[in-house]
Amino acid sequence: ARWAMWREGGARGAALLFGLALALEALARLLWRRRGRRAPVSEVLFFPSPVTCTEALLADPLAAAAASSSPCPCLLPHGESALSRLLRRLLSARRSLELCLFAFSCPQLGRAVTLLHRRGVRVRVVTDSDYMALTGSQIGHLRRAGIQVRHDERGYMHHKFAIVDQKLLITGSLNWTTQAIQNNRENVLIVEDAAYVTPFLAEFERIWKEYNPTHYTFPRSSNKKRTEHLFRAWRGL
Ligand SMILES: [Zn+2]
Repeated sequence: ARWAMWREGGARGAALLFGLALALEALARLLWRRRGRRAPVSEVLFFPSPVTCTEALLADPLAAAAASSSPCPCLLPHGESALSRLLRRLLSARRSLELCLFAFSCPQLGRAVTLLHRRGVRVRVVTDSDYMALTGSQIGHLRRAGIQVRHDERGYMHHKFAIVDQKLLITGSLNWTTQAIQNNRENVLIVEDAAYVTPFLAEFERIWKEYNPTHYTFPRSSNKKRTEHLFRAWRGL
């Protein structure tokens, strides 16, 4: 009987602890909300990402409203994936987007960036001059859409990071290419933390200034082939 009592006591204690934990969590949530905030974003994505349909995310609001009544007829799965989560974080931008990307050829990510530009978000892109000419490069599309792009002249601009609204840092090993997204083991860290955003933003501004096109010198170099290659990449040809 003592054993049964002890066991009952233990169960009651566990229930009490569980209740207390729930209450504390509710209190924490309430405090966040009181201060007009939500918990800061902190997310890790791993690639390769399964191929999923991202049309609903990338459609114009009007088209999306029309489409919501009839589900997308395409044959791809329509669930979440690492790519759809990355797109969601990017598309949360309301004021600014800084991109510092070695290689950028993923069409869905290109569409997301163009969409943000059309919504009035200030988009600035820094990229690598050699990799601008990658097959399917989005850089030409972005420039034709009116987005400012700057690039290095020598060495590799090898960063892969983005900053959303000057408060969310997206960084990791992932190049924004379909090949990397669908085939490579890659990591992406998404953090809403000034301790990381501030130095990355400062580095972006430093690179942005350094890559000011008025400072470019390579077109005067004797390497005609390289100049042509850069020109074609720049124009998105
Ligand atoms: Zn679909």
